[in-house]
Amino acid sequence: MFRRAWSKPVVRVSVLAVLSGIAAFARAQSSGPTPPSTRSSTAQPAAAQTAAAPQLPPRPTHADILRGSYGTYRANNDLLYYHLDIRVDPQKNFISGKNTIRFRMLQDGMRIQLDLNDQLSVDKILFGATPLKFERDSGAVFVDFPDTLKSGEVYSIDFYYSGTPVTTGRFGAFTFAKDPSGHPWIYTACEETGASQWWPNKDQWRDEVQNMEISVSIPNGLVDVSNGKFMGQTDLGDGYTRWDWLVQYPINNYDISLNIGNYVHFSDPLGDLPMDFYVLPEDLNKAKKQFVQAKGMIEAYQHYFGEYPFIKDGYKLIEVPYSGMEHQSAVTYGNHFANGYLDRDWTGVGINPRFDFIIIHESAHEWFGNSITAADKSDMWIHEAWATYLESLYVEYMYGHQDALKYINGYKPKVKNQLPIIPPRGVNATPPPDQYFKGVLFINTLRSIVDDDSRWWPLLHDFYQYFKYQNIMTEDVEQFFNERTAMNLTPVFEQYLRHSSIPTLELKFTAADNVEYRWQAEEPDFAMPIRVGTIDHWQVIHPTAEWATLKTPLKKDEFEVATDRYYVNVSKE
Ligand SMILES: [Zn+2]
Repeated sequence: MFRRAWSKPVVRVSVLAVLSGIAAFARAQSSGPTPPSTRSSTAQPAAAQTAAAPQLPPRPTHADILRGSYGTYRANNDLLYYHLDIRVDPQKNFISGKNTIRFRMLQDGMRIQLDLNDQLSVDKILFGATPLKFERDSGAVFVDFPDTLKSGEVYSIDFYYSGTPVTTGRFGAFTFAKDPSGHPWIYTACEETGASQWWPNKDQWRDEVQNMEISVSIPNGLVDVSNGKFMGQTDLGDGYTRWDWLVQYPINNYDISLNIGNYVHFSDPLGDLPMDFYVLPEDLNKAKKQFVQAKGMIEAYQHYFGEYPFIKDGYKLIEVPYSGMEHQSAVTYGNHFANGYLDRDWTGVGINPRFDFIIIHESAHEWFGNSITAADKSDMWIHEAWATYLESLYVEYMYGHQDALKYINGYKPKVKNQLPIIPPRGVNATPPPDQYFKGVLFINTLRSIVDDDSRWWPLLHDFYQYFKYQNIMTEDVEQFFNERTAMNLTPVFEQYLRHSSIPTLELKFTAADNVEYRWQAEEPDFAMPIRVGTIDHWQVIHPTAEWATLKTPLKKDEFEVATDRYYVNVSKE
């Protein structure tokens, strides 16, 4: 039976021993907690100087290490619940309120680490009626308790804060804007910067609350749409109305979202699943046409993976002015109510114009990203490669395997192969865009290695079902696939995820009816079967790093490799 490699929040670093160079750098950076008072400059590992310079991402800052590592003051507690309760003032571009944070101590301790952007004020932190001392350092907020908190006990604090969040990054993080008719339009999308850009929380990926309440007070007449189930609105009698939402599943911090605007609402449930849509009044008719696709999307993903993960919270699409984001149960949408991706054919092969890229991609994250979440940002391919693969599954469900293959291969021109998909762990490093494009080609390669769809579909289904609602790492995925396929796929995962290059199938044609073949790859034990021959008559060979010989009547220019099913280079001589 397959057993989980580890359960949260146990830190597992042993597998990093198989890595070298860049990963040694990651190991050195993340192998232990970073005391808040220690500057990172005292801990630069030798590997950082000796590894090949062009392969290294930017050196992590002190703030990156505080944010990215799972240090003592994070590991000593387990999040249970947040209640974020804030007032948003569109006149002053100002927010204020509190987050109630409930957690269980896992070790005795007097200090925990939370996070809040330095531009926002910490007004007070209360433990019952007792104000707590705290220390701020580069986005971290270390909270000190007057007495030891006991392992196993549950505690709760109220973290009051206020200020004007900084608008930054591709999607703004937190933006005060106006819609085309002049109403306030205020929205969040903070995956890049982290949720502590606008609210206080334990801003990391490994630990999630089990459930959450979100209360947003806004001027009367506006609508707030946040994550979870709508619980009601309360007129506060001072020109403001509070909107209450309840999240009934684990949720990662960057998914927490508020969307405040002059929204109109319509709903169109799919069986027991509430499906709700919020758009500006002038876009209502366009939305009613375009959002019909959401049902087909849900049906396609349910076919492959099982029930929509957040059925009690429902599924929502909410119009925003940026392209979109996978906020859990409250997907934001800004794709112009048109097929393709921002009016383009995203993979350039004529298939994307048949569907709305943002509905299909961002909603795929409900299964991969929101239900299954990476435990460290370094392993974000678990969100993005899989969501991109789900795009192709949507295509396969709707239009068949040939179109899915064509769609997947349309991603090839976007791949750079300059950096590994997985960057250093524990230092808040973001993977390169290859996590999407090379990622989907890698998963497609895995399917070809399994080479039996009657095994591939249950494998995908069970992979999702096994890890749903959990925070996992690449090693968990590898172990699951190894055990379920009874193959050693670790070198394949390592080659595609932790090296920049892809494997090359070397073919040498000799005078007699022979071709010699072997793999050339960075990963020492890399080996995988591959289809060769002709499209009408493929045969599977099992190359390794050693030369082997195949008898073939095919000449050099007739001998093909199924590079649409395996993402590899081929060299012929
Ligand atoms: Zn995505």
